[in-house]
Amino acid sequence: MKIHRLVWFVGLLSIGLSAHAADQAARPPNVIVILTDDLGYGDLASYGASQYATPHLDRMAAQGMRFTHYYAPQAVCSASRAGLLTGCYPNRVGIAGAIHSPSKNGLHPDETTIAEVLKAKRYRTAAIGKWHVGHRRPFLPLQQGFDEYLGLPYSNDMWPVRYDGTHAVAQPGKTLPVELPLIEGNEKIRELRTLEDQEILTTLYTERAQAFIRRNRDEPFFLYLAHTMPHVPLAVSSKFKGKSGQGMYGDVVMELDWSVGEIRRTLEECGLTGQTLVIFTSDNGPWLNYGNHAGSAGGLREGKGCTWEGGQRVPCIMVWPGQIPAGTVCSNLASSIDLLPTFAALAGAPLPERKIDGVNILPLLRGDFAANPRDQFLYYYRKNSLEAVRRGSWKLVFPHPGRSYEGFVPGKDRFPGKTNENFEFSGGLYDLRRDPGERYDLKAEHPEIVAELEKIAQAAREDLGDDLTGQPGKNRRPIGEVQ
Ligand code: MG
Repeated sequence: MKIHRLVWFVGLLSIGLSAHAADQAARPPNVIVILTDDLGYGDLASYGASQYATPHLDRMAAQGMRFTHYYAPQAVCSASRAGLLTGCYPNRVGIAGAIHSPSKNGLHPDETTIAEVLKAKRYRTAAIGKWHVGHRRPFLPLQQGFDEYLGLPYSNDMWPVRYDGTHAVAQPGKTLPVELPLIEGNEKIRELRTLEDQEILTTLYTERAQAFIRRNRDEPFFLYLAHTMPHVPLAVSSKFKGKSGQGMYGDVVMELDWSVGEIRRTLEECGLTGQTLVIFTSDNGPWLNYGNHAGSAGGLREGKGCTWEGGQRVPCIMVWPGQIPAGTVCSNLASSIDLLPTFAALAGAPLPERKIDGVNILPLLRGDFAANPRDQFLYYYRKNSLEAVRRGSWKLVFPHPGRSYEGFVPGKDRFPGKTNENFEFSGGLYDLRRDPGERYDLKAEHPEIVAELEKIAQAAREDLGDDLTGQPGKNRRPIGEVQ
């Protein structure tokens, strides 16, 4: 009788265990996107940075895949984030530039975000950190597919505080930027008023992210952790102040690196490492005229706000033990607009009904570089200017007015140096394999490649428009607007 009972019990246990194993196998993976703000291509040790340490990101690169030709959707905050969240070139969904605090615009609620795509597969979703695709209520994360939100609704320099930390006073005829609120859900929970107030942010976001992971360890989840740092004004907690030996910027990067370590440690503690894809990247290149408070483009040309490589090519590290081959480098083209369709494929979720621009890059994550899912990339900037196109290693830059940092003394200790916001670039054809700095125009030598890239540009102009050639485009959708 006792033996019978034991057999019965063991049988039940094994059925339970195999049901659990089946559950685990059927469960789609968790996804974590860690987005930094204005971190440059040359800011991590694994991308050639020296002098300050990023051990957690180094380990992540060693255990996963490091992308060397990975692009932010556009070279500025709001547009870049709209692209990441929707899988579209930002101009397709009507978002350009950075949305300022008085703005009534935002990402149209009819657009489908990653969070909404994954909700179809019952993911738990959280946005933590900088949002910046519209701060009016209909555009906030809770109305865009996220179950929870804690963070700043726009950039941390959109506040009535001067570079030296003193409060700006209203001048006749000029409006002051509105306050910088910290928002939880849809409500302001406090206002950030001083440089010191910002020192809490990286750690606050990190701890909230850890709590979200622990709370949802038994459900598939999507965590979008968009750090405010290292966007100016830089701020760092006391844990890292003065620790890098490289000033504020190095300290801030060390805290971001610590944060990555904490997130991965929490996954490990929850037994979720093997079923979680973690992605670390940046929204655009470094804001170079802030000098020692800016990052490095690692030798690429120009920086934030430019379609030259320094503005748009960003570091990207992905890790998923057992799925992504460890210690690999991917030099195929990829972009943050590819995340939405890639996650949809992972989760078995349908794609948005409206046209998107991203492609599923899962073959690259599996190490199949011959698959090459993305063979071209469009570089739009300003309101809707097609400034360059890339295919393979060739990039054709069209003549355009744009920001240039070259020729100016960079700023120092919170104060920016000058830039030329309307430099007339003459453009050219560049072979990024031999000439990553985009210095040698080969247009005259390769008219056949120019013609090929022109064809790509012409198709893009018909589809998405181009202010430089006066084409409106057939398939752009409107930005959201509240009255
Ligand atoms: Mg940015």
